[in-house]
Amino acid sequence: KFNSVSLGPPIEVFELNRAYNEDTFKNKVNLGVGAYRTENGEPWVLPVVRQAEKALANDESLNKEYLPVLGLEAFTKAASLLLLGANSSAIKENRVFGIQSLSGTGCLKIGAEFLHSQLGCSVVYYPKPTWENHKLLFRNTGYTELREYRYWSDKNRGLDIKGFLEDLNQAPENAVIILHAVAHNPTGCDPTEEEWAQIADVMEARKLFCFFDCAYQGFSSGDIDKDAKAVRYFESRGFEMFIAQSFAKNFGLYNERVGNLTVVVKDNALIPHLKSQFTLNIRGMYSNPPSHGARIIAYILNNVDLCEQWKNNVKTMADRLIQMRKELRGALERLRAPGNWEHITNQIGMFSYTGLDEAQSEYMVKKHHIYMLKSGRMSMAGLTSKNVEYVASAVVDTLTA
Ligand code: PMP
Repeated sequence: KFNSVSLGPPIEVFELNRAYNEDTFKNKVNLGVGAYRTENGEPWVLPVVRQAEKALANDESLNKEYLPVLGLEAFTKAASLLLLGANSSAIKENRVFGIQSLSGTGCLKIGAEFLHSQLGCSVVYYPKPTWENHKLLFRNTGYTELREYRYWSDKNRGLDIKGFLEDLNQAPENAVIILHAVAHNPTGCDPTEEEWAQIADVMEARKLFCFFDCAYQGFSSGDIDKDAKAVRYFESRGFEMFIAQSFAKNFGLYNERVGNLTVVVKDNALIPHLKSQFTLNIRGMYSNPPSHGARIIAYILNNVDLCEQWKNNVKTMADRLIQMRKELRGALERLRAPGNWEHITNQIGMFSYTGLDEAQSEYMVKKHHIYMLKSGRMSMAGLTSKNVEYVASAVVDTLTA
């Protein structure tokens, strides 16, 4: 029966993690997966999350019954507010709603499905390069035109805004445009405020649909509000849009699979229509979302003190990543690694797009047991003060081998 099934390619980041776990080399370093690690290289359950979990575990009024198809409202409302801010006109005018889904990926999926099934969208644009899952997700949803817009210039080690705008200008009306809201993965390079304004101008003129992917709110500056500025700017200009919010990174709730799709519309009379169609799509996909992660976040965001503690936890993570960038650049310069390393500290968020090519990145893995993606992306979260020197000396060896 299954003779026709061919062997598919592995998913790079999961494959890399498996290889890392099996490696017995003492000084191995995992810079592959985008998951926060402490200064001791350990995963971190945020203290405020532990506290919320204890309180929820003791709350005997909670049970394990199904959540509604669109999720827990105490969570979706708080999540959309966190993103758009209290001054958002869309929120004041009741033109916003949220749908709880399976982390950022699930939000992208239900958004993609809705646009495809309800509006007939089949053209999607994402940046070159982008998070590796965008293409697979939209292809599996039935999009037939999977297109890249120019984003990163290897030559300038920065944003290719000219190419970006040219490509958007060529896009057909109603094309879905994926924009990384903050801390672009994998380049760590975001548009400036002026550049966001230019992007918004083209999106508006060409009638393109804005689908923000927001997986790192707080990870760039350490400040939740600052990191929402691109989304808030688009909202203030009156765009209708979807925003896929992941809470994997900023709450450290990776495997709880908690996300919120914030939907902003012009005409709030249509919200019941949209909700009814989302309900049918989701019912046919996974019926309803899990409650644990959503309850944790609702508990924290709806309590002023806990919310403050959470913001401090986020800042702790962002600050450590910034510190690791400094230490890595410092070590590379001290060891006279060939080339210029300013981009390491100019980039933001979880990743650094080092500039190592595919062969060099593979050499880092094979020779030095430093696990990183073939694109040259390193997760700054895998660095510690104890391994940064080793990583820098491996880069020097790789570049001079
Ligand atoms: N978008 C981007 C750009 C990401 O980097 C990630 C996390 N790797 C996600 C979405 C979603 O991840 P998750 O489904 O775990 O929230």
